[in-house]
Amino acid sequence: MIFIGPRSSPHVRIAIPSGDFVGRRANVGDESWFYHDDEEWAALAERLKLISCPHCKATGTLIRHGFLRGFDDACPPRRTVRARRIFCSNRHRRPGCGRTFSVWIADKIRRRCTTTRRLWRFLQHAVAGSIADAVRATGSALSDRTWQRLWNRFDRSQSAIRTALLARGPPVPPVPTGAARRPVAAQVLAHLRAAFPHADCPIAAYQQTMRSFFV
Ligand SMILES: [Zn+2]
Repeated sequence: MIFIGPRSSPHVRIAIPSGDFVGRRANVGDESWFYHDDEEWAALAERLKLISCPHCKATGTLIRHGFLRGFDDACPPRRTVRARRIFCSNRHRRPGCGRTFSVWIADKIRRRCTTTRRLWRFLQHAVAGSIADAVRATGSALSDRTWQRLWNRFDRSQSAIRTALLARGPPVPPVPTGAARRPVAAQVLAHLRAAFPHADCPIAAYQQTMRSFFV
C-alpha cells in the first residue's frame, strides 16, 4: 500500500496497492480499490501517473475515465456516483493496455444501489430479530426481496469476513444464546465493530482497509 496525500495531512490514506504489491496479483479482480471522500480522490487523481496499472503493470498510463453512476435507495431514488473509472491509455502512442477499472467510493455496496451505512443498520436489526423488521428499520426504498438477497450474501460471506477480521484482532466473545436471534452472525458484527472501533461505518472501513467488498 502506498500513502497518498499532501504533507500537511499525512493521515490521508488511499487503499491503493503499490506497484510491487500489484505485481503479485494476477489482475484487478483479486482486489478492489476504494476511496473514502473527495479529498482522498483528489490525492489519488494527482498521483495517478505514479501508480501501476493493475492489469498490465505499466506506470504513467493511467488517466481518469469518468464515473460509474447508479441510483441510491433514497425515496425517491437519486442518481449518484458509485465509482470513478480509470483508463490505462493506449492512445496517442501511450504504452497502456487500453483496459479500464473502477475505484469505488468506500460506502457503496456492489451490485446493489444502497450504502454500507444502511446495510450496517439492516444487519444489526436482522441478527436481533426478523428480516422484515430489519428492512423496515432501514427506511430503504429497496424491496424486501432485495434485502433478503443481501442477507443471503452476508450469510455466505461470513466465514471470509471472519477470517479477514482475524488479521485485525482476536475474535470477540460469543454472543450468548438468547441475546440475539442469530448469535453467530451477531458475533461477526461485533467483531467487525471491534476491528474498526472509531469508524463512522465499520462496513465502509472494512471495504477500504481490506480492499475487498464486504458482500
Ligand atoms: Zn494497463
